[in-house]
Order: sequence, then C-alpha cells, then structure tokens
Amino acid sequence: MAREKGLHRDHIVGPRSCDCESFLFHGILEDGGSCIHIEAYNLASKRENFRKLTVERNELKQILTEIFAYGKSLKLRKLISSR
Ligand SMILES: [Zn+2]
Repeated sequence: MAREKGLHRDHIVGPRSCDCESFLFHGILEDGGSCIHIEAYNLASKRENFRKLTVERNELKQILTEIFAYGKSLKLRKLISSR
C-alpha cells in the first residue's frame, strides 16, 4: 500500500487499480495504464513473494481510514511488525 510525493506512504492497490496519483492521472486517462505499485503487486503475486495478513473488519476499517486521512497506517505497520 503509499502516495507519489513521499516514499513512506501506504497504498491501496490491486491487480488493476491503485489509489496513487500516477494511476489516477495516467492509469485512468490512458486506458489500461498502470503504476509502479500495480506492477510491484503483480510481480509479487506472480512470485508469491508477499506476506498475507488476516485482520478483523474493524481493523481493516481503521487501516483504510488511516491511509485515507494520513496517507499511511500506523495500525498496519504495527500488525506487520508484530507478526
Ligand atoms: Zn500506484
């Protein structure tokens, strides 16, 4: 998950969509465009090089709220470092 203007942002990314500025302006305007986060997501998925976290619905809501409000989630970082 992060935003283009900072290296330490979290992004909400999937195989064909991302919340970053680059995807919003290039991916959507240039039909079928991508961004580095989508490319990284798809490469990690292809290589099965990722860590899967299972969270409760209220934890996911907190993570999404933090990313939306602050561009990063301390909750997510805590979960990653504790597991
Ligand atoms: Zn992106």
